[in-house]
Amino acid sequence: MIFNLGSINADHIYRLPHLPAPGETLAADNYHRTLGGKGANQSVAAARAGQRVCHIGAVGPDGDWMVDLLEGYGVGVGHVARSDTPSGHAVVCVDDAGENAIVIFPGANRALEIADVTSALGGASPGDWLMMQNETNLQVETARLAQASGMKLAYSAAPFDANVVREILPFVTLLMLNQVEERQLEQEMGEIDVPQLLITRGADGAEWRDNASGEVVFCPAFPVTPVDTTGAGDTFAGYFMASLAQGLLPNAALRRASAAAALQVQRPGTAEAIPTGAETAAFLA
Ligand code: ADP
Repeated sequence: MIFNLGSINADHIYRLPHLPAPGETLAADNYHRTLGGKGANQSVAAARAGQRVCHIGAVGPDGDWMVDLLEGYGVGVGHVARSDTPSGHAVVCVDDAGENAIVIFPGANRALEIADVTSALGGASPGDWLMMQNETNLQVETARLAQASGMKLAYSAAPFDANVVREILPFVTLLMLNQVEERQLEQEMGEIDVPQLLITRGADGAEWRDNASGEVVFCPAFPVTPVDTTGAGDTFAGYFMASLAQGLLPNAALRRASAAAALQVQRPGTAEAIPTGAETAAFLA
């Protein structure tokens, strides 16, 4: 079982002729609402990869549709709490040139209660992976509980926040970064000492390092033409972790995650664009 402490967001996406200027009121040409949040995306990817996933998070009174969608993708939602705070959401404005401006309201994602985490992790066994990112509260407390239960922590340092990262790093088994986060981390914190590191570099592929043994595995990205790369990193992370949990070696896990991400970037959308395990296997065959 993989446990994932993570955000669940409603993404409200508005297509506009241009991004609104200060003081401007602008009518959108098109609107749609979709499930998002780094945590939810990673859980969907791991579940699509055939892994049992227990998502630990919260939605507000307006969030039932997101829990239903997660469940529909096969994610365990028994520990998604109902908060009085509105669900986390993002207002995403996209102009005709594809440029965007985004407002995020964390809402229920930052109103998690420790009792919910304790109860979820009560079902964990030593050696189970806990995933987390930076879009909820209680990361440090959860990392501490996980360590006490003998779990391994896979942490995406995104969105990057040096103060949170500094506190969590001592608990981390696997640190997951994209190249922007890698640069931010190096600039603010210098050399990073974690047991394992996964760095994704978009179309330039991905790399996994085991710092104890010095083993480095590189996997090129598949040459595809992307239509929407939102959520590529989350797809990769969920597939990679699911694959490790299923016993694949890092090189095979990287290849499977690269394939899933290559399929995901060729489809519009985020969670709904994440391929199934069968689609990923067919792509690799
Ligand atoms: P993030 O979404 O966090 O910025 P990346 O851009 O590093 O993450 O993408 C994660 C992974 O998705 C990459 O390592 C690669 O496997 C895949 N990917 C991303 N962009 C492309 C692309 N243009 N072509 C093929 N694969 C891609």
